[in-house]
Amino acid sequence: MKATILHAPGDVRLEDVSDPVLAAPTDAIVRVTAACVCGSDLWPYRGVNKVTRPTRIGHEFVGIVEEVGPSVRSLRPGDFVIAPFMYSDNSCPHCQVGIQSRCRAGGFWGSKDRNGVMADGGQGEYVRVPLADGTLVSTRDVPDDDVVPSLLALSDVMGTGWHAAVAAGVQEGDTVVVVGDGAVGLCGVLAATRMGAERIVAMSRHQPRQRLALGFGATDIVAARGAAAVQVVMQLTEGVGADAVLECVGTGESMSTAIGCARPGATVGYVGAPHGVEYPVRDMFERNVGVAGGMAPVRQYLPRLRDEVLAGVITPGAVFDLEVPLADVAEAYAAMDERRAIKSLLRP
Ligand SMILES: [Zn+2]
Repeated sequence: MKATILHAPGDVRLEDVSDPVLAAPTDAIVRVTAACVCGSDLWPYRGVNKVTRPTRIGHEFVGIVEEVGPSVRSLRPGDFVIAPFMYSDNSCPHCQVGIQSRCRAGGFWGSKDRNGVMADGGQGEYVRVPLADGTLVSTRDVPDDDVVPSLLALSDVMGTGWHAAVAAGVQEGDTVVVVGDGAVGLCGVLAATRMGAERIVAMSRHQPRQRLALGFGATDIVAARGAAAVQVVMQLTEGVGADAVLECVGTGESMSTAIGCARPGATVGYVGAPHGVEYPVRDMFERNVGVAGGMAPVRQYLPRLRDEVLAGVITPGAVFDLEVPLADVAEAYAAMDERRAIKSLLRP
């Protein structure tokens, strides 16, 4: 089969790899029908995270179950499934409290599992899924093609934006600030809307992203950055600050902006993989500002968000503004890297 391999910074290729086969009774083989490129794929693509050898890549996909191992109970060949960005057993102590992203038996796509067998990357034609019952979430019917992008968005960005809003404790009537206008931040706006926020301030200086944020329910756009952005938020809230803040970037600047916008007693929900973040603990202590969140347990939210997509309540698939065949995966990366696209969808 064909699968995407990252060879070096800026060098991503679709190549022949061995076809996956069932390796454990709990496995499933999924034929990928749609996949996408994540903002976090750009860290190694840009060389920020070192690439020392050719690596399988891609962790967001949906598809059709082709085969299941003898112990798989919840899935049958022909089922349409959504994969979270990690696999998990959904039964260990960490999964039971809803932190499937720290599953004791779990792991990442595109690398070998605990038994030394490849759990294929999502940007390919097929994936061997370990722990299929605990990982995959199916739909009752094979969905129409126009719903697929929104279901695909649940594999990472929508679940991650949702987690930011949960961690920040967004309540009905709240004023919420969202830092970050990538797909996760935009989905965070949508999550805050669903949780009943009254005012949602989206920070963005890019017009297409501003438009999407407004479409997802943002009431205010702030184009300023850093201390200037905090100042604007303070003006908008008459010097009070936001009831909840979603930090969806992961840099030192975005975190200090987020903490600066929080009102006394508020929580910053953070989901951006931290790169050089330090906390101003003294300031947080004096203002009772908390930070909560981390790597999103997307699997926890999948059933609920799937139902909302299928009911037409949310359409997070609007974050995809480029769709290319899997063969053009290099263009999918380049477009996001150069900020020509917010998020690229791949069709094998
Ligand atoms: Zn687990």
